[in-house]
Amino acid sequence: MVTYRKYLCPVCKQKTGVKILYGMPSHEAFELESQGLLALGGCCIDINDPERKCLHCGHEWQIKHKPPKFDLKLAPQYLQTKG
Ligand SMILES: [Zn+2]
Repeated sequence: MVTYRKYLCPVCKQKTGVKILYGMPSHEAFELESQGLLALGGCCIDINDPERKCLHCGHEWQIKHKPPKFDLKLAPQYLQTKG
């Protein structure tokens, strides 16, 4: 069970940051977005893309630096944006 908690925005200090979902959104994902519980980031992802978005000020940020190892076997679809 995935929970959709809010995160503290580093810019405006409001707890209005939500997870950015990448990939093809499901119907549930659109429902969550309409409720302000999720942000949709598009079908493709780059390792430098942000993982959180503030719905108050629009700021987007990463929760961690580059992953220590980008697993291409587990996420081959993410290769689309990589030159
Ligand atoms: Zn903010």
